[in-house]
Amino acid sequence: PVVTRFAPSPTGFLHIGGARTALFNWLYARGRGGRFLLRIEDTDRARSTPEATEAILDGLTWLGLDWDGDPVSQFARAPRHAEVAHALLAQGRAYKCFSTQDEIAAFREGARARGESTLFRSPWRDADPATHPDAPFVIRIKAPQTGETVIRDRVQGDVTFRNDQLDDMVLLRSDGTPVYMLAVVVDDHDMGVTHVIRGDDHLNNAARQMLIYDAMGWQAPVWAHIPLIHGPDGKKLSKRHGALGAQEYRAMGYPAPAMRNYLARLGWSHGDAEFFTDEEALEWFDLGGIGRGAARFDTKKLDHLSARHIAAMSDADLVEGVNAYLVSRGEAPLDAAGNAALGRAMYCLKDRARSYGDLLDKAHFALAARPLDPDARAREALHAAPGGLWPELTRALQDASWTRETLEAGLAALASTLGIKFGALAAPLRAALAGRAVTPSVIDMMLVLGREETLARLADAGC
Ligand code: GLU
Repeated sequence: PVVTRFAPSPTGFLHIGGARTALFNWLYARGRGGRFLLRIEDTDRARSTPEATEAILDGLTWLGLDWDGDPVSQFARAPRHAEVAHALLAQGRAYKCFSTQDEIAAFREGARARGESTLFRSPWRDADPATHPDAPFVIRIKAPQTGETVIRDRVQGDVTFRNDQLDDMVLLRSDGTPVYMLAVVVDDHDMGVTHVIRGDDHLNNAARQMLIYDAMGWQAPVWAHIPLIHGPDGKKLSKRHGALGAQEYRAMGYPAPAMRNYLARLGWSHGDAEFFTDEEALEWFDLGGIGRGAARFDTKKLDHLSARHIAAMSDADLVEGVNAYLVSRGEAPLDAAGNAALGRAMYCLKDRARSYGDLLDKAHFALAARPLDPDARAREALHAAPGGLWPELTRALQDASWTRETLEAGLAALASTLGIKFGALAAPLRAALAGRAVTPSVIDMMLVLGREETLARLADAGC
């Protein structure tokens, strides 16, 4: 069975690249009935914070990327990492190196002066343990010095590293703490990870990690190193265009399903499919669809997909989403009446809304309480209302049956009686119903508000 993992370092929020990596791992596992695990790589004690871990878990939760079991703390597993280093030592696949930092620095300086490789070759690699001093040591892997290490990457293809260019890396420091590279391998092995899908900035690490798998006689995972995300200008993603936290996209009002769709398309494709559901993504996602070129972050495309998801979502999901959006911005959720009004209005709000913020803006007429506070353009429209409009409108609407057809026919008849164009009637009516000039259609607003509220707003406007 497939086991994937997401292994963030808790040094900041969940950024877009991390969210995309997590999504790919989640899609790959969940689409195959596999498991998706979470490991917090908190070994850098100076830079790791519980707040960052919290922010990452929040971001994943918002995106709906649920993980199996409890998150694993890498730091907590340090004793196990040390155990593996000692096992390699016992098997002769690693050795104690007593060279000091000063000796290594002096070696490098000399090599540079002689124009030779500065790759450090420890004199302790083949030393007789009987000659070992009673002094601090690190444990180094005994890496092959000839031949090649090949990473068969499912995205990058075969990537070959010459072994004579890899040094005997340190596994365990002189204070007994494991290095990161060892921790990753031991954790992935112990967690049963079958597929490592991560940013291609880790490709070089894979070669070194492979040496540890080989030395332990462990089966290496399938590798898939995915290209980084670039900004719209093709340059590295910067804060200015998109390198924001996942949470910031939440606060901008993008629904999570839209964000999943958008992130899935950042570097992965399935034919020419742009808009798709979670079910489709789960069915289609595979490593072969991941491109080799850097993906470009494109806010216009995100907006476009978001609008399509909003149009496709159920009214109930949208109402729930709007409330979660409000809460994520530190605002109060809607009350019961607000939720009911929003739900009634949703059918005429959800076309062409790009975000939950757009929905709320369009829902202003349904959520605002009387008396409305008309904006400047609405005041202008109210001012320009033809004489006698309000009593005539009130009379026409008092007994009309409250359906789209009769309301449309009634308003058209009234306009012709008054000798004005429909628009000259609709503009002040819109202003009276919404206090704004840009709204859903007047008919939709009347249907959502109902007769009583409509007549009350006309009376407010008329006096
Ligand atoms: N902790 C690493 C990072 O955040 C990921 C390591 C891995 O996926 O192997 O970049």
